Amino acid sequence: MRNISVLDSGSGKQHVSEQIIPVDDPTLPYWRSQLHPIDDYRSSKNLPVECDIAIIGSGMAGVTTAYHLCQQMSEKPSIVMLEARQVCSGATGRNGGHSKVRSISLMKMIKEYGSAKAADFAAFVYEQKYAMKSCVEKEGLDCEFELRRSYDVFLDEGEAKEAKKWFYECLQEQHEWTRECDWIDERNVEQVTSMKGAKGAISVPACSFWPYKFVSQLLAKLMEDKLVNLQTRTPVTTIQHESGYSVLQTDQGALKARKVVFATNAYTGGLCDVYNGKIIPYKGTAVHIVPRVPVSPHLSHTYNISYAPEGLGVDYLNPRPDGGIVVGGGKWTYSQDRSSWFDTWDDSTLLPSVRPHFSSLMQRHFKGWEDSGAEINRIWTGIQGYTADERPHIGEVPGAEGQHYVLAGFNGGGMALIFTSARGVAKMIATGSSYKDTGLPSMFQTTRERLAAADTESYETRA
Ligand SMILES: Cc1cc2nc3c(=O)[nH]c(=O)nc-3n(C[C@H](O)[C@H](O)[C@H](O)COP(=O)(O)OP(=O)(O)OC[C@H]3O[C@@H](n4cnc5c(N)ncnc54)[C@H](O)[C@@H]3O)c2cc1C
Repeated sequence: MRNISVLDSGSGKQHVSEQIIPVDDPTLPYWRSQLHPIDDYRSSKNLPVECDIAIIGSGMAGVTTAYHLCQQMSEKPSIVMLEARQVCSGATGRNGGHSKVRSISLMKMIKEYGSAKAADFAAFVYEQKYAMKSCVEKEGLDCEFELRRSYDVFLDEGEAKEAKKWFYECLQEQHEWTRECDWIDERNVEQVTSMKGAKGAISVPACSFWPYKFVSQLLAKLMEDKLVNLQTRTPVTTIQHESGYSVLQTDQGALKARKVVFATNAYTGGLCDVYNGKIIPYKGTAVHIVPRVPVSPHLSHTYNISYAPEGLGVDYLNPRPDGGIVVGGGKWTYSQDRSSWFDTWDDSTLLPSVRPHFSSLMQRHFKGWEDSGAEINRIWTGIQGYTADERPHIGEVPGAEGQHYVLAGFNGGGMALIFTSARGVAKMIATGSSYKDTGLPSMFQTTRERLAAADTESYETRA
């Protein structure tokens, strides 16, 4: 690890910190099996000397912020995008490709924030899929985007009963989000979901897409129109914050920027001190499973499978249009070995204990897959950003208001949140709007108070 000098935006003082920076040789995800010509591209041989807006990170957050800025600003700003590795080589290129809010997450949220805030959150997620669909169609992105349904399946009888009771209570209380969801009764659930031993399920709205194709094609469009100068393999090592501008240091030289957007998710604490120890990098894993020949009928919905309330956790499944399937989760197989996954940003190694769980998962759990010969085609890891309250940090960076913006700390579910969060951040930059005027959920706003309340103790027990 190299040590770097990190700026504390509040006090203006520098101090030495271990650098949380993407490793050079990550595992190869299925989604990065068909690379775009801009994957490894630098728009100019030399790093520009200055720009209006520097965006650090070329994942979903960085690229969609650039997109919305270009949509919203009539006078186009000069934008430089700095990426430590290749385009979309972070979590966005290594996830499940699956966007939804799990009913169980809503249950937790209602308990923690009340039903009105949970309803706002659900509405925010539901609206995002239509916003993404419009973008895919308007920009002609060929990324297998599809509006889908998703089953939250419960294999444990006790958990299914509890979920059913809770769902019907919400129905009775006329929670707005229940208009989009249905309970699948225990009598029919195996047939409806194709899952052996299912004890109940909630059907919820979702969408799926090929995240790398979405991001790389959108970025290529911005570059074609000369709206973004892309610099891949250019890690930002330090940032000096002066009044009115910031200086970003890289191995390619320095860049002076009037505004900076941290779209660095898990890695944000390595560059921006207020997030050091507040957004914790943690490793997750996914696989691509392929049957010998595509199984018919095709699984047209996505899944979250809950094995039991305690002990075993949750998997997520995203059937691909070609008959393959991307599956992630399996956390209980390695969670005891904390140093292998928590507070690490090394996605160059696998979490080998998940392999036996995933290798026959389809045969064990899905009707019609018993003789499919389904096998793991590819297995990989990626780094997510954990926050104590499991909400992202979005908005102006405390201590650098009006100059530094952040959208990071998406935990395990950024695909459902980022596109419209980026629209809000772009609005703040383009028009000087306050966070409140963006319409983003208040629970996402990054504030000193929220950061101070982020109790590191809870990281130890909850993650
Ligand atoms: C295995 C796995 C499965 C997942 N499954 C799902 C899922 O099914 N659904 C879902 O909603 N979410 C899922 N997630 C989470 C989701 O992928 C993330 O929330 C989302 O991709 C975050 O996007 P981002 O753009 O903020 O971050 P990233 O995609 O990680 O982009 C950050 C970028 O910043 C760059 N960077 C970092 N530091 C620097 C620096 N100093 N200088 C220059 N560049 C830098 C990185 O290289 C990276 O490209 C999963 C994540 C993983 C790892």
